[in-house]
Amino acid sequence: MSGQNLVLIFNCGSSSLKFSAIDPASGEEHLNGQADALNTSSAVLKWLYCNKEGKQPLSPGDDYDSVIGALVERFADPWSELRNHLVAIGHRVVHGGELFADSAPIDTNVLSAIRACCELAPLHNPAALQGIQASLVAFPELPQVAVFDTAFHQSLPDYAYLYALPFRFYRDHHLRRYGMHGSSHRYIGERSAELLKKPINNINVISAHLGNGASLCAIKGGQSVDTSMGLTPLEGLVMGSRCGDLDPGLLLHLGEALDYSLAELEQLLNRNSGLLGISELSNDCRELEEAMAKGHAGASLALKIFCYRLAKYIAAYTVPLTRVDSLVFTGGIGENSAWVRRETTGWLSQFGYQLDEECNEKIRFDAEGRISKVGTPDIFVIPTREEWVIARDTIRIASRAS
Ligand code: ADP
Repeated sequence: MSGQNLVLIFNCGSSSLKFSAIDPASGEEHLNGQADALNTSSAVLKWLYCNKEGKQPLSPGDDYDSVIGALVERFADPWSELRNHLVAIGHRVVHGGELFADSAPIDTNVLSAIRACCELAPLHNPAALQGIQASLVAFPELPQVAVFDTAFHQSLPDYAYLYALPFRFYRDHHLRRYGMHGSSHRYIGERSAELLKKPINNINVISAHLGNGASLCAIKGGQSVDTSMGLTPLEGLVMGSRCGDLDPGLLLHLGEALDYSLAELEQLLNRNSGLLGISELSNDCRELEEAMAKGHAGASLALKIFCYRLAKYIAAYTVPLTRVDSLVFTGGIGENSAWVRRETTGWLSQFGYQLDEECNEKIRFDAEGRISKVGTPDIFVIPTREEWVIARDTIRIASRAS
């Protein structure tokens, strides 16, 4: 570790806090861990440091403050060597609204702006704020930077980000497409340029980030020009437990004819739909593939709908790009599921896409490479590195601010 500068990264979700320490120059990870099931009786803090796993139970009342407090104690001992190399802290913040087109050094104005965006991400931004505030108290001497999921998509043109609602809903309430997974899509654009050996401002990429949450991004010359998530992470692709696109009239029907309350709708659309809702089995792609292999009809239908929707979106994103230099699969499903990649590209043969079946079967478990046949349009699998993007941004912004 000697001579290395490390960035500590916090990613506060609605009931979890993930953390890692990364060398922004190489992307090497020296620590990672997470506190899960916060505010429940099974809350626990787990980590991997120097290839050794550790864990510590948390109390049911423990929140982001207590977790960061527990980390500060571990940084005093036994992680003191690591502590000596920390030079900055980066916080993942889901929603920056229209206020942030780039990462920002945290000060009182930035904190107020993140607070102002809580209405747009009520589950995520309050958690990020609590994490940032605890971290400012715990590490007062380190510069701290907010890295927004939405910032990369601030380059969308108005015809791509506006909904066809009366214009005043945008003007008065900022209702528009914002998009998420910005750090991941940005990395995929940059890494594609390296793999294609072309300048980033000269390539067009379709990036498919397929994890529990899933989104597609059209990247033109390194800039996001369209993306499938919208005002919230519900829009677009079929996801683990989220429905993605629906007829908005269906929501009216659920409210009027079936008497659904707003809370019930939220639960239905975010937590009980998607792969889980269709299969009536699981939100987990790997489990569904196993069940499909044993003849489970729901699992098979759910995966088919997932890939069909994805293929339709990929076809649609040839519109803003006109020329596509690479189609990239990433995220847990995109990086590991040869079946999803095959089924999806199977719908896209009219665009010339053809898989090299052997490469497609081989690439998984953090491997990177081309999976298309020689002489056909490029399809890559690229493991995403969101934390590395956050670490690099943190150093870039912290050194500019100091
Ligand atoms: P998150 O959005 O929570 O970060 P991930 O990117 O970790 O999610 O992706 C989780 C998804 O990846 C799950 O649906 C999981 O089943 C899927 N996945 C992981 N490994 C495999 C695999 N070998 N085959 C198929 N799907 C996989």
